[in-house]
Amino acid sequence: MALHEVREPGTYDGATDVFASPLSEAVLPKHHLPAEHSRPEVVYALLHNELLLDGNAAQNLATFCTTWTDDEVRRLMVECLDKNLIDKDEYPQTAEIEARCVNILADLWHAPADGTGSGTGSGSGTGTAVGCSTTGSSEAAMLGGLALKWRWRERRRREGKPTDRPNLVAGPVQVCWEKFARYFDVELRQAPLEPGATGLRPHQLREYVDENTIGVVAIMGVTYTCDYEPVAELAAELDRIQAETGLDVPVHVDAASGGFVAPFLHPDLVWDFRLPRVASINASGHKYGLAPLGVGWAVWRTAELLPEELVFRVSYLGGDMPTFALNFSRPGGAVVAQYYAFLRLGRGGYRRVQQACADTARQLAGEISELGPFTLLYDGTGALPAVSYTLTDPATAGFSLYDLSDRLRMRGWQVPSYPLPADRQETVIQRVLVRHGVGRDEIALLARDIRDAVAHLTQGGPADADRSGFRH
Ligand SMILES: *Cc1c(COP(=O)(O)O)cnc(C)c1O
Repeated sequence: MALHEVREPGTYDGATDVFASPLSEAVLPKHHLPAEHSRPEVVYALLHNELLLDGNAAQNLATFCTTWTDDEVRRLMVECLDKNLIDKDEYPQTAEIEARCVNILADLWHAPADGTGSGTGSGSGTGTAVGCSTTGSSEAAMLGGLALKWRWRERRRREGKPTDRPNLVAGPVQVCWEKFARYFDVELRQAPLEPGATGLRPHQLREYVDENTIGVVAIMGVTYTCDYEPVAELAAELDRIQAETGLDVPVHVDAASGGFVAPFLHPDLVWDFRLPRVASINASGHKYGLAPLGVGWAVWRTAELLPEELVFRVSYLGGDMPTFALNFSRPGGAVVAQYYAFLRLGRGGYRRVQQACADTARQLAGEISELGPFTLLYDGTGALPAVSYTLTDPATAGFSLYDLSDRLRMRGWQVPSYPLPADRQETVIQRVLVRHGVGRDEIALLARDIRDAVAHLTQGGPADADRSGFRH
């Protein structure tokens, strides 16, 4: 056998089973490199089995991220395994595809098409969009935040004012904004979640915004509750604050999830560059953008909103190409897969996919509200395809949401329970995200399991009662 001959003597025995080989007959080395190599099929089988201990991604209803992909996407990802996104000169077509995606998103989010952009794109839109791909919304948020900080500092310097105490105002943000604030030395002023609220409310801004505010972050799809914050109303309140005080505070929209939902399900909702105050937007391609893990996007309204000092130029087809990123090397596959999703689905496809998810979420919301012990916090209407709820009366329910999460986990479902953020910490909520690949029947099965789990937890019988197998 040819395969046999190319191996070193003593390391391969054609008669040896994958699970009767030196590597598989011992505990795997965990703190040092093994002394010798092993057969690839043995290593593969062992890692494959170890990874089965992870949760099943398809039943992970905690994540916003893509867990289902077309086979064609898998193929493209493999074909792009060796393409480095930063090598614009070596892989000019991948670079061009990235620019097309930026232009498509700028168009989707209504960036002004008046030629004020840097002109790096060459796609089917106006080709003037300013933006870039990132590893996800976290990196995109850092870039958006940095641009806000640089512009604020430049303005303050021109006015001869101190620049040592920048702050960023937001509601219940995702952890990436806390990271931005800490890593880049900005005070994060988080307005607490008011009772009954699902995010930042406009009237709260006044108390937090001042001359050191680099910007306000508005969230399209709050991580905790899945609702949209009212971006237009927040911007209008900032207009009033400007009229009264002269403070001109820009808005960055964290549209990690909503950036790929609102344009299709809520096209009349004005949250994007149609609002003059919105300076920049980030979104996660690998969430409702339907690309596989590893891609996010940052887009600026116009070129002058992205300070030139933050832009690095890399060699590209004999010229140079502006780049803005925290990373250097990065695989190109997820960006190509994003473009695949745009071409594959188009507006109509995205709308149908997200609508199917939204309908399924609403179905689940209905079933959960009928169960009795729960109060819906967000019923899947008007924002992300998701449901969030609390126990109406935790003191008398007879079980906690954490108990329910544990019980559901026995069936493989990953449904997270967690406390609300600052000032509402005593309220524990549960959240179910409905994504591409999560079908109606799957959610019907989940609803049945929630009902059974509640019955089990509230009957308070011996834990073994279920194991007779008679109940189902
Ligand atoms: C998920 C999320 C992020 C972080 O996005 P990644 O793509 O995971 O880096 C930021 N903000 C919001 C609102 C999110 O939902």
